Amino acid sequence: MENSCSIRYSNKHMKGQGVQQDDIWQAVLGEIEVSLSRGSFLTWFKNTCLLKQEEDLTIIGVSNIFVKQHLEKKYGGLIESTLRKQGATVGQIEYKITPAAGRRRDLGNEKDFESSQLTSLAMPANAGSSVQNLRQSPNGLNERYTLDNFIVGDGNELAFAACQAVTQQPGTKYNPLYLYGGVGIGKTHLIQAVGNALQARNPDAKVLYIATEQFVREFVQSLRGRTAAAFASNYRSADVLIVDDVQFLAGKDKIQEEFFHTFNTLHQADKQIIMSSDKPPRDIAMLEDRLKSRFVGGMSIDMQVPDFETRCAIIQLKAEGHQVTLDPEVIEHLATAVQTNIRELEGALNQLLAWCDVRNLTPTVAIASSLLQVNKTRPKHLSAKQIIEKTARHFQIPLEEMVGPKRDKDIVVPRQVAMYMLHEELRLSYPKIARELGRKDHTTAMHSVRKITQESQVDAALRNAISEIKEHLYA
Ligand code: ADP
Ligand code: MG
Repeated sequence: MENSCSIRYSNKHMKGQGVQQDDIWQAVLGEIEVSLSRGSFLTWFKNTCLLKQEEDLTIIGVSNIFVKQHLEKKYGGLIESTLRKQGATVGQIEYKITPAAGRRRDLGNEKDFESSQLTSLAMPANAGSSVQNLRQSPNGLNERYTLDNFIVGDGNELAFAACQAVTQQPGTKYNPLYLYGGVGIGKTHLIQAVGNALQARNPDAKVLYIATEQFVREFVQSLRGRTAAAFASNYRSADVLIVDDVQFLAGKDKIQEEFFHTFNTLHQADKQIIMSSDKPPRDIAMLEDRLKSRFVGGMSIDMQVPDFETRCAIIQLKAEGHQVTLDPEVIEHLATAVQTNIRELEGALNQLLAWCDVRNLTPTVAIASSLLQVNKTRPKHLSAKQIIEKTARHFQIPLEEMVGPKRDKDIVVPRQVAMYMLHEELRLSYPKIARELGRKDHTTAMHSVRKITQESQVDAALRNAISEIKEHLYA
């Protein structure tokens, strides 16, 4: 039993001496838990255990090298003194990486959905995001997002706890659940994860995830195609409705009206509604008051950018997903360089891994730092065609239409984004950009680049789209 960790909250199988050791460790964790922030505790201590406690040697089991080094560097003293308080004689302390120690990343006391959660931590080797996107199913859920592979820390802890509560008791306390915060901080991940967990627990339930833009698009189509009734009944018959980025309802009166009725139907039937937005309801301009008051009628939670330690743990987890163990310095370097957006952080990591993989190099701080530097100035090796293709795919528009003559708004904006990307990523000249997109006049390209540059400063969704496309380009 020496090598398997007794994991917190599930120590019932321990026998003999292990029980004693485990009690000591539970007591130590209890003390440490109250002396640290929740985020730090969860990140660094949750998956630890006591493998050996003898007079001259204490061995602590940890889930990975990063935790090991961090505990050694920062928490050795605290661990030692807390062990002493529990009456243990402490000599040397060692840390040992034990695979079993890494299994749990949720808060721990939600026993009944353990099994569905545990399986999902094992990410495939090629967990690159373009592959993952293909696994999106008709209910809009993407299985890559789970509560288990969401790192909890300062900034997202409350949102995470609420999501767990909703997973256990949908349609009750936190209804609707409304998460809001900046771009790339994990809102979509969390609300998708709740959807996945609920669907896993109840395969017959109708769990629907929809991005607001898509919702609007479908609605407009249903009006054109005279299928409005079918549209309405589809959403009104959901058991769980998850609507992402509801700020995009702003200024669209008809869809607001439709959504209001959908909302009421579901809410009255105690069906769970989950929403995300980049801002609190009161700050969404041109949103009907009656919707605003509905949106705050349950639980609304402000999500913040995860702190440094949490960002480190996220990078660690994502690297593990690619079967790569990164040097802690490299992780810290990335977490310092990209502070406000986890999507960008992941992009930087993917880029680093891809770069090193192709060249058969081990990622180092020097490489990471030069790539981040290059990023700021200019990358290489991408072709205009790749950029246009990725952009088209992101907006789900056929390539022919991107470069074709149509001027519908649905196509014009993606086309403008593609021009912007060619300008930003390749620094192509305007005449060349225009030609790549099948336009004759270079002023079109100039105008488009300027427009997207300006709009992306005020439009979070647009910024989001751009950073997602970039992530795919470098994934
Ligand atoms: P948002 O919807 O807030 O813009 P996303 O949910 O799309 O952000 O998150 C961006 C990326 O960062 C996703 O790939 C997501 O998996 C990842 N991410 C964000 N926060 C975390 C976290 N705490 N743990 C693990 N991954 C995270
Ligand atoms: Mg999102």
